[in-house]
Amino acid sequence: MKNKTALIFGISGQDGAYLARLLLEKGYEVVGTSRDAQMSSFVNLCRLGIREHVEVVSASLGEFRSVLQVLKTVNPEEIYNLAGQSSVGLSFEQPVETYESIGIGTLNLLESVRFLDSGARLYNASSSECFGNTDGVPATEETPFRPRSPYAVAKSAAFWQLANYREAYGLFASSGLLFNHESPLRPARFVTQKIVREACQIKAGIKDKMKLGNISVKRDWGWAPEYVEAMWLMLQQDEPDDYIVATGQTHSLEDMVETVFSHLGLNWREHVELNPDLLRPTDIMTSLADPGKVERKLGWKAKYTMKDVAIMMVEECMKGAC
Ligand code: NAP
Repeated sequence: MKNKTALIFGISGQDGAYLARLLLEKGYEVVGTSRDAQMSSFVNLCRLGIREHVEVVSASLGEFRSVLQVLKTVNPEEIYNLAGQSSVGLSFEQPVETYESIGIGTLNLLESVRFLDSGARLYNASSSECFGNTDGVPATEETPFRPRSPYAVAKSAAFWQLANYREAYGLFASSGLLFNHESPLRPARFVTQKIVREACQIKAGIKDKMKLGNISVKRDWGWAPEYVEAMWLMLQQDEPDDYIVATGQTHSLEDMVETVFSHLGLNWREHVELNPDLLRPTDIMTSLADPGKVERKLGWKAKYTMKDVAIMMVEECMKGAC
């Protein structure tokens, strides 16, 4: 019997690399896109030792023709859309690029899937950022969206585009409302990896101070390699649906800083400087999740929470891998 083929948009990113590894382990043929597959180094695929096992092609979600062509050529059973501008902070600097890559990109993908009518199943990377502040109540799949960044606005639009295509045209399409998930593959632009990397540099005596913005924000942080399992599970169900994926535990950024520094035997208060220039124009103060549905319906539950994640990232970084 022919192996299933999966097409991952954004295979060069953190989640793309872990998902590719998972799908290869499950026996899939894996094809992944990058905006420029000739130029991309696919460093994350190389770090996971799977670069030679996946086929990569150039495709841009912003170009309808490009999306249609790659879907027609690859003819996948499963499509995972993980591509797009993924930084909340950068979205304030590049709102149009953010909207085009997420909002228009998802629409191009939905239209292409509908047009080709191949029966392919689609997973779309939505985000906990859509919820905004939930007034101390853990978000469920029924919680209204109150986005607080250009990134979150774009993700919210894409979420509703997908929900409409599912209802109007019967597409098998599911959105994952994933809360923050981290790993050693996270770029240093993201605060968790910045903290880990700079704390390791302080430990090594390369630097002495670290500048951070608001460390009282609270987030639900999980471990990326296990979050991609939830993406795959969503496409194995009888019916498409949307799911929150989170640990259900919320911690402050200060807690994370404390965990990282104390694991290195350092006192963070001696090294961290708060810099108001790093504050975002608007931000979510507390991110709270109720991952009950994904556990009940998909049998998925996070094994690792913030402290495990922070320590695993520090251990990997100390080996020179960040
Ligand atoms: P990532 O590492 O930034 O990877 C995203 C990929 O998208 C990049 O490798 C890049 O591939 C492509 N990309 C970047 N900017 C783009 C742009 N302007 N236009 C088109 N493509 C662009 O992201 P990730 O952490 O793996 O996350 C995967 C998806 O889940 C993203 O959609 C993200 O927004 C979403 N998400 C992530 C989290 C999280 O905590 N990690 C939480 C919720 C949702 P090329 O450069 O090769 O084209």
